[in-house]
Amino acid sequence: MNKSDEVLNKLKVIIDPDLGKDIVTLGFIKNLTITKGIVSFDLELTTPACPVKEQFRADCKRVISELSWVKDVLLTLTSSKRSSALNRTGKGLENVKNIVAVASCKGGVGKSTTAVNIACSLSKKGASVGIFDADIYGPSLATLVDAPFNGLFQQNDLIIPVEYHDMKLMSFAYASANAGGGPAILRGPMVTQIINQLLTGTKWGELDYLIIDMPPGTGDIQLTLSQLIPVTAAVIITTPQHLSFIDVKKGIQMFDQMKIPTIAVFENMSYFVCNSCSEKHEIFGSGSRKKLVEQFGIKNSFSMPLDEEISAFSDSGTPLIIARPDSNSAKEYNHFTDSVVREISKINFANLPKPEVSFNDGTLYYKSENGDGNVINPANLRRHCRCAQCINEITGEQILNHDDVDDSIIPNEIKPMGNYAVSIYWSDGHSSIFPYAMLNELITL
Ligand code: ADP
Repeated sequence: MNKSDEVLNKLKVIIDPDLGKDIVTLGFIKNLTITKGIVSFDLELTTPACPVKEQFRADCKRVISELSWVKDVLLTLTSSKRSSALNRTGKGLENVKNIVAVASCKGGVGKSTTAVNIACSLSKKGASVGIFDADIYGPSLATLVDAPFNGLFQQNDLIIPVEYHDMKLMSFAYASANAGGGPAILRGPMVTQIINQLLTGTKWGELDYLIIDMPPGTGDIQLTLSQLIPVTAAVIITTPQHLSFIDVKKGIQMFDQMKIPTIAVFENMSYFVCNSCSEKHEIFGSGSRKKLVEQFGIKNSFSMPLDEEISAFSDSGTPLIIARPDSNSAKEYNHFTDSVVREISKINFANLPKPEVSFNDGTLYYKSENGDGNVINPANLRRHCRCAQCINEITGEQILNHDDVDDSIIPNEIKPMGNYAVSIYWSDGHSSIFPYAMLNELITL
């Protein structure tokens, strides 16, 4: 075996935790050279913001150093130029690799604050980042980040974005300030047109991530926007009240219609840590995150406390991630951002097979992502429904009785619900959402 093969063989033990394959098979090793016992190569990661990049670096050095002839390992971290296979409409977006929509179903839940902090976190992790404030009725980007603004300028028909801490920003507020200001009194179709023009007409340049702060809600404006903008993935910001949980479902359904996967849910202002007793007070109760996992299979759900520093720094134009990078809330934002990065890498690079649920010739069949499959009795599955009508959402107790479901029930329609669950419309008029994780458990019972 020659020395290059010996090195590659060693590197093959390092598995990317998200893509589930070794780093050699994934094609991460580039420009490998060996001179006088010095091994040098580029490790090309899926994104500069890769949360495990330092771990990869340490592991590579460790395994290669195990070869007796190796004197030194010189490793350069780089990132892939590949972008998601989305159709880039509009010149300004040509070199944008990933677009992340940050959405909420109501105003005031902290969507814009979270969008800005995710962007800052991505930028601090080494990614090139842009923020687009699409909230035309209440644009808040210019308040949340105190970026120097001297008016907008054009270059080759494209608007030069405002810059802040290496990030590129655009908001309707900047455009309207340029045009002499004034409140936005616009009808729906005009709104989407203006947003689209501003988005595609901005000179974003090369970006790893463009964060879009969506207008709140799940109406026509939001739907049209998700259609117009080639979004890679969506994250939903909510608060823990029950009503907002129902809204999350609406949000996932809206993005589903556009085939945009909802990859994470951020439960904001979830609890309060008291200064005097250091105890976590869950003002609105707990349990929403558990329900998210149970009902939609969304594993990336995070909760952020009600933190006066977040609002104080936002109000003064410095996002918390920049003002207090070592605070607990900044760490929460960083965790959340890591999960977004990992899920997007999976979307772009993993090509993982998806579970399938089908109903043919009277047989309901489930095949997991590993290819394991089994027949499921429709009535039994229907009896496992965990919607608000079938279980007590507070105690988790089953309300639905065995005899409430006729043994002859069949699915009329089966549709994927986001990336992690399937929704089934039954012949009794009821509809259920089953996370794939639950179906995996059911077939192995
Ligand atoms: P939205 O974009 O959903 O309308 P904003 O991001 O503008 O909401 O936030 C609304 C208000 O809540 C702002 O004053 C913001 O500073 C504050 N805020 C957001 N998240 C938190 C939090 N976790 N703790 C305390 N205040 C917060």
